[in-house]
Amino acid sequence: MKNRIVCKFGGTSVANAEQINKVKDIITQNQERKYVVVSAPGKATSEDEKVTDHLINIATSGRHFRSQHKDISTEKSHKAVMEKFHSLMSDLCVESEDIRERLEKDIQKAISAEKRIDFLASRGERFNAEIICRYFNKQGIPSELILPEDMGLMVSDDFSNAHVIPVSYRNIREKLSRVEGVAVIPGFYGMTSKGDVAVFSRGGSDLTGGEIAFAIEASLYENWTDTDGIYQVDPKLIPEAKVIPRLTYKEIRLLSSKGFDVFHYDAMVNCKKRNIPIQIRNTNNLFSEGTLIVSERVPEEVVVGIARQDNIAYLYLERDGAGETIGFVHDLLSVIKDYGIETYHYPTDRDDVAILLNQDDLVGSEDDIKETIEREFKPDIFEFNYNITTLSPVGIGMKNHPGVIARAATALKEQNINIDIINQGPAQISFHFGFQNCYADSALRAMYDRLLQ
Ligand code: ASP
Repeated sequence: MKNRIVCKFGGTSVANAEQINKVKDIITQNQERKYVVVSAPGKATSEDEKVTDHLINIATSGRHFRSQHKDISTEKSHKAVMEKFHSLMSDLCVESEDIRERLEKDIQKAISAEKRIDFLASRGERFNAEIICRYFNKQGIPSELILPEDMGLMVSDDFSNAHVIPVSYRNIREKLSRVEGVAVIPGFYGMTSKGDVAVFSRGGSDLTGGEIAFAIEASLYENWTDTDGIYQVDPKLIPEAKVIPRLTYKEIRLLSSKGFDVFHYDAMVNCKKRNIPIQIRNTNNLFSEGTLIVSERVPEEVVVGIARQDNIAYLYLERDGAGETIGFVHDLLSVIKDYGIETYHYPTDRDDVAILLNQDDLVGSEDDIKETIEREFKPDIFEFNYNITTLSPVGIGMKNHPGVIARAATALKEQNINIDIINQGPAQISFHFGFQNCYADSALRAMYDRLLQ
């Protein structure tokens, strides 16, 4: 559908009446903002807990918060959810009695184990959407509540990690083409073929927005959140880092790491297939244009951002003659695969190879892996190296641009930081330097100053 914008508002954008009022203003400013996907109320203050967390806590008899070492009982969570929705409705002056009754009934269903965890986890989005829809209508924006069950958003029965089933796209297109005003849609869940509610992984309302944008071939998917966009580096580490105005899907994928996690990656996959641009915007700062994620762009800079990953380990193996052994690296990676461990990079040479992975993933399997590798590969040297940080400059402007790696290496040399691992991505739009964790902050600062200033 041309000139149709899907807008998704995250938890902090709908955390209280004041925020929901901002959402209303944003919707009124542009008639093309017709499909509004909402999260459950998130944290209004840093001490707050998200409604979804309280709901999961109720559904798991308190295990959810206990596992985070938080002393919040199911009774406290129950009270917090009811109070949150009560204050939302009273502050927005929307009729509340029937919503309160239905919410309470749904909570009781989950407590009596009549329904799965996913059902209760989804109630934050479900009822928040209904309240927001009522509020829009009251404010003169004709709106319709469209639930996943109404529009045939069908998902797999991988509870808490559901995936959209392709038949959904036609269902969604048909249903939404008949909506006259604004469609207000709860994010985060869909229906299984057996009629159960199943939720996506956490942060999954992004995914609902992305799938709807794909289904209706939206002209734009706006993702409204509480930051000005995607920054060149994590602004908690480099406060003067700037928001990146435009990025390609490929670049954001390469940057995905700590500090770049403002957007659920799965939500991008289908938008990319249909070239639907995604704009990350700040509900609290309309002056910022945010970050636009597109298929192609003409780069004005060489490096657009630097990703950082801490707590990396690398497995180092050397064996004379490995270079002539067909399938050596394949066989080695198969061992890691058998332990279900994700691997990141594999710098290789004639007779040796390093495999980079997250060191937390080795906990409990390290001795077994060592024994298996020593038995099956008979290495001359085999060791685990821990506490590595990788810094990965990214940018499509880097391709065919001489000297970027030299500049980054010089910046580290000036700080007397030894590089343990170097690897260039084969698309030549990223490279990775690995060194001891203790140098991470000074290395990031040095590379930022040299490549992004
Ligand atoms: N409310 C869900 C969560 O907290 C989904 C979302 O907000 O995207 O994970």
